[in-house]
Amino acid sequence: MTILEIENLIARHGLLTAVQEVSLTVGRGEVLGVVGANGAGKTTLFRTISGVHPMTSGTIALEGQSIAGLTASRRVAAGIAMVPEGRRLFSDMTVRENLQVAGENGRIGSWNLDSVLGAFPALKPLLRVPAGGLSGGQRQSVAIGRALMSNPLVLLLDEVSLGLSPVAVEELYQSLGALKSARETTMIVVEQDLDRAMAFSDRIVCMLEGRVALEGAPSALGKSAITDAYFGLGREMADA
Ligand code: ATP
Repeated sequence: MTILEIENLIARHGLLTAVQEVSLTVGRGEVLGVVGANGAGKTTLFRTISGVHPMTSGTIALEGQSIAGLTASRRVAAGIAMVPEGRRLFSDMTVRENLQVAGENGRIGSWNLDSVLGAFPALKPLLRVPAGGLSGGQRQSVAIGRALMSNPLVLLLDEVSLGLSPVAVEELYQSLGALKSARETTMIVVEQDLDRAMAFSDRIVCMLEGRVALEGAPSALGKSAITDAYFGLGREMADA
């Protein structure tokens, strides 16, 4: 069953059209991986879905209801949560405070401080530590936990592994794997590591210059087709 439906979405930065007529549907409990080169429009797409960047035209519907006219905070209340690239936390606030402040704006649901700590047990001993004193992996866990505290229907994860050590990435994806297995939270994941994106996602969307260049199950598409779409090689061959 479709939970998020985007049609003909266009978003601009001034004269530059960063997202060009993107249409996507995401099923309940599905993990959609979004890949694409730097500047392909992935972050702008996420920011437009979550309402922190204005859309120029198109439609965004969550559970069949348009959310296009809602502010970012109302979209959180409706069930859209984004973990932005760079895991922005309140550095002076403790881990507990960072998590709790997020719960105040969200939906009612099964995620609370206890269940988030169950999903990220390494945060338990850190509850009183200011977020500014955490490692990159710990900060990312708090950022994801904070998003979960709003009980999202759809969780947008923008390059969560960026800048983390291989061990931290592994740990993070173990937690995300458990989240995926529960199939309660729909996830859209921007991931630069193509192998990881293919292994983790049920379906892959490859963006190129603001458009969806390729879409399908990772096993059906295969890595070479995804790599070609990533670099726009298929298009050049077609143009030649
Ligand atoms: P990256 O992997 O580098 O984050 P991306 O696929 O997320 O790339 P976006 O960050 O959405 O892509 O950028 C899409 C296009 O919009 C790029 O050409 C980028 O230069 C431009 N862009 C992004 N943010 C802004 C901004 N704040 N002002 C002007 N142009 C922007």
